[in-house]
Amino acid sequence: MPFGNTHNQEKMKYASDQEYPDLSKHNNHMAKILTPAMYERLRSKQTPSGFTLDDIIQTGIDNPGHPFIMTVGCVAGDEETYEVFKELLDPVIEDRHGGYKPSDKHKTDINPANLKVAQPSVQLTWLTVFLNRETNTCPPPQGGDDLDPDYVLSSRVRTGRSVRGFCLPPHCSRGERRAVEQLSIEALASLTGDLNGKYYALKNMTDAEQQQLIDDHFLFDKPVSPLLLASGMGRDWPDARGIWHNDNKTFLVWVNEEDHLRVISMQKGGNMKEVFNRFCTGLTKIETLFKESNHAFMWNEHLGYVLTCPSNLGTGLRAGVHVKLPNMSKNAMFEDVLKKLRLQKRGTGGVDTAAVGGVFDISNADRLGFSEVELVQMVVDGVKLLVEMEKKLEKGESIDDIMPAQK
Ligand code: ADP
Ligand code: MG
Repeated sequence: MPFGNTHNQEKMKYASDQEYPDLSKHNNHMAKILTPAMYERLRSKQTPSGFTLDDIIQTGIDNPGHPFIMTVGCVAGDEETYEVFKELLDPVIEDRHGGYKPSDKHKTDINPANLKVAQPSVQLTWLTVFLNRETNTCPPPQGGDDLDPDYVLSSRVRTGRSVRGFCLPPHCSRGERRAVEQLSIEALASLTGDLNGKYYALKNMTDAEQQQLIDDHFLFDKPVSPLLLASGMGRDWPDARGIWHNDNKTFLVWVNEEDHLRVISMQKGGNMKEVFNRFCTGLTKIETLFKESNHAFMWNEHLGYVLTCPSNLGTGLRAGVHVKLPNMSKNAMFEDVLKKLRLQKRGTGGVDTAAVGGVFDISNADRLGFSEVELVQMVVDGVKLLVEMEKKLEKGESIDDIMPAQK
């Protein structure tokens, strides 16, 4: 496993161009932006916890490309990474998040003045949900409860959260990781009612139990992803990793995978409304519980929630469905339609998998610059259209008359 450039001060004896990585075959955001001159300016810097430029870019060096998605090619090791190395990370963020500028402010909560999308009746109701988050009352949102279950097999909303004051998974020590795990266990133990659940440490699970949870789409994969391994996130595996879930596995929290916390709401079928409602309620409760033990989540006005991968900044939210699109996915317009709807596709086994049998994981492509509600709305509207297109193609009809405009 690669790691450990950090404390090698000997590298400073070499000229910057002697240390500069070979990025000639690379296709990721970092490789597009890093230049020898930028490397030279940044290579001796470090964050207060000691995270360096070489640590940030290692995953992008070792993974020139990815078969299914355009990767970012860099990670943060702590909250300060985004500030100390902004010369590299600001343009990466701008490139990944559709022109998001260093001066832009992220919409973490909804301000009615920011709402631009048509469909006022839907918008207002979703807005109500969000405004009520603070008071924990989260009324059920309208819309999104009727995705056709013959096509939409399951619905899911997830986000990440980082606990302020601890290094992020690419850089945290064993002690820090175990402390984050302990804080999480204590906070989650206070959830009650529908959200009452239990924590299962990876190291206490049998191989068969772990594999079953992975196969059922509840648990993160084993540390096999080269993206994860090259960033240092797989160190000490499975120490201090685990999954907490409620009794019927509809609300789940991953501990110390790619982020300190990943909060997930999911269920079978196409009722995204119910999934999002549970997500809002549970997440708000978790935030409150952490606050009560004097631990804030990393957040700022510009980046929103600060997470390990720059692609997840902002809301950290990925709302997605597993959906059957055997005809649509073979259509020449598929990629174009997804792009216009601001959606992303993956295989159903996770980010590193290809789709099998025409079933895809379709989710929002954006995380930053849009509010949580806007992103979920995009997925609901987009998936509805994709299913409509699938049905038309099934019957041999044209989809030309329902092509979407660019969102
Ligand atoms: P994430 O962005 O949450 O890390 P991954 O692509 O790494 O997502 O997938 C993690 C796991 O979540 C995989 O097992 C995947 O099958 C499962 N998953 C993702 N979306 C859905 C969905 N809509 N329904 C059921 N399982 C899902
Ligand atoms: Mg993942």
